Formats: sequence, structure tokens, C-alpha cells
Amino acid sequence: MTTRDDLRENEVAVTVSPPEDAALRFIGVIRTPFTSRDLCPRQGRLDGPECRLVVQEPWVAGLAGLERFEHADVLYWLHQSRRDLVLQSPKSDGALRGVFALRSPIRPNPIGLSKVRILGIEGAEVVVRGLDCLDGTPLLDIKPDRCAYSPLAPDKPADG
Ligand code: SAM
Repeated sequence: MTTRDDLRENEVAVTVSPPEDAALRFIGVIRTPFTSRDLCPRQGRLDGPECRLVVQEPWVAGLAGLERFEHADVLYWLHQSRRDLVLQSPKSDGALRGVFALRSPIRPNPIGLSKVRILGIEGAEVVVRGLDCLDGTPLLDIKPDRCAYSPLAPDKPADG
């Protein structure tokens, strides 16, 4: 985890109380070839390396039907991120941007989102391409893509 000493010029941190107003359940862990943050791509690519979403019980049954989809959105908890930088300078060039104008991993709630290609499902593990996170990153959710070629995912009018 980074500390306040890592602030770049003009970046602004805020004082935050320990989060206690919501509790997330991790549903598993993500296995990737990326062993340090420096080795992770800034964003995953659908032709990137194979990774695995290792789903833990009691959630494994929740994978039923996912094999019908070619793509999914994966949400994960960027667990090594600091959470207090409201203004950030991602390129260290002094050009400040607000956290909500960035896809930086440093955010009040460090949730990562990537679209992945589903290569297969092997028991409790979903094999995918498209991730950019550290090996061991906690898995929050998997949502199938709604796209024209997904037979169970027709477009529906504004009902979510
Ligand atoms: N694709 C996601 C998104 O847009 O929400 C995440 C993008 S974020 C720019 C990806 C970067 O987060 C990686 O390049 C790496 O530096 C960092 N990162 C990856 N896994 C992390 C983790 N578990 N904790 C903290 N930082 C992480």
C-alpha cells in the first residue's frame, strides 16, 4: 500500500475516516501473471494473457449459464490502493485531474472494472483475457455482457 509520502507535486490528499458504511463480500480471487503493480498494464486487453477468476464457495453455482457468453464485465477490489487522493497527477507532469475524471486505481472505493473475453469455465474457475490487476486481487462480481450475439441477453427496454 502506498503512503502519504508518495504524493506527487500539487497532488491533494483528503482526510478520510475508516470506511464502515458498506460491507462487500469477496466472491473469490483473481489469478494473473502480474506480480507487481508496475508489471500490470494500465488497462487490460482482450488479447492479453490468460487469467483466472477463481470463485469460492458458496458462489460457484452462480457460474451456471455464464458459458453462454463470450464477454463479461469483471469487478474487483484494488486492494493495494490508497484511497485518499482527490486530485491526482497520473503522469507526474503536474497536470492535475480529479479522481472522477480518471480510471486511476487510487479512488475512495478502489473498484476496478474490466471487460473480459471468456475462454472457458473449468469447475470453479473462469478463464479470461482482458485483466490488468495484480495476482491475488479480490474478486467482487462477474456480469455477463449484453450483446447482440448472446442468446440469453436480448436488449430490453429500460428495465435494467
Ligand atoms: N481496468 C480497471 C478500471 O478501469 O477500473 C483498472 C484500471 S487501473 C488504471 C489498473 C492499474 O491498477 C494497474 O496498472 C496497476 O498499476 C494497478 N493495480 C492492479 N491491481 C491492483 C491492486 N490489486 N491493488 C492496487 N492497484 C492495482
